[in-house]
Amino acid sequence: MKIKEYRNQFIQELTPIYDAGESESFFYLILEEKQKLKRIDLALQPDLLFSEEEIVVWNSILEELKKEIPIQYLLGKTSFYGLDFEVNENVLIPRPETQELVEWILESQKSKVESQNIRILDIGTGSGCIAIALAKNIPNAQVFAIDVSEKALAIAQKNAVSNKVSVTFICQNILETEDLLQQFDIIVSNPPYVRNLEKEEIKKNVLDNEPHLALFVADNDALIFYKKIAELAQKNLTANGLLFFEINQYLGSEMVDLLEKMNFKNVELRKDIYGNDRMTKGSVQ
Ligand code: GLN
Repeated sequence: MKIKEYRNQFIQELTPIYDAGESESFFYLILEEKQKLKRIDLALQPDLLFSEEEIVVWNSILEELKKEIPIQYLLGKTSFYGLDFEVNENVLIPRPETQELVEWILESQKSKVESQNIRILDIGTGSGCIAIALAKNIPNAQVFAIDVSEKALAIAQKNAVSNKVSVTFICQNILETEDLLQQFDIIVSNPPYVRNLEKEEIKKNVLDNEPHLALFVADNDALIFYKKIAELAQKNLTANGLLFFEINQYLGSEMVDLLEKMNFKNVELRKDIYGNDRMTKGSVQ
């Protein structure tokens, strides 16, 4: 079958679930990943064919997409801050908002001459996206990353290797940690922050496929991770240290209050590209 004909059929079958643009982008993502062909190749060689075996593979991906399994899990990869990351159902798929948090951290280091040798800790690293993007962009920084899930850390470790950076991964439950035992210049975290009461807003593809361990917190203690991490940061940040968080968009002012009550200075709240309160920064002095 001609690839072009298959493409039309593929897009048509997905359009009740996804819009045409998204269905088309899935087609080209798979084309690149599975056939190593780009859109331009298909335009230049409109008679390219799929073999029977290839159609079997494509049809099975099509069926999974119809069940709303995220394309990133189906392909086993995604990109974040210009880098490739392996992902599976044990890690959250890196979000564009989180790239903005990385950008903010990098921006905070630009004017600092000494930033080259800083020590960074990422808590709840998941796929390793924040830690690895920082390690890649701050030469000589020593980067550490904690996660409670060994399965997540296995992926994060692979991602550090494939991106050629060195990150020290530690399997640890942050809620049971009394002291980090080392000092850091930057502590960053994108912990679970979605309340059960927000479950209705969460898209089906996220709810049914992504790890709930990385997403949800109890309605009556939504800031549990932030309180614990801010407490540890008070003990384990250097005098010029900075604490960065990705946050729940509905809890911006609660987060600012929490950080100020815990004695953080220069507390800032930032919105993401969608205009939602999404991240905070605070310093020790
Ligand atoms: N931003 C993620 C979502 O929308 C949640 C990430 C988190 O809980 N840390 O699903």
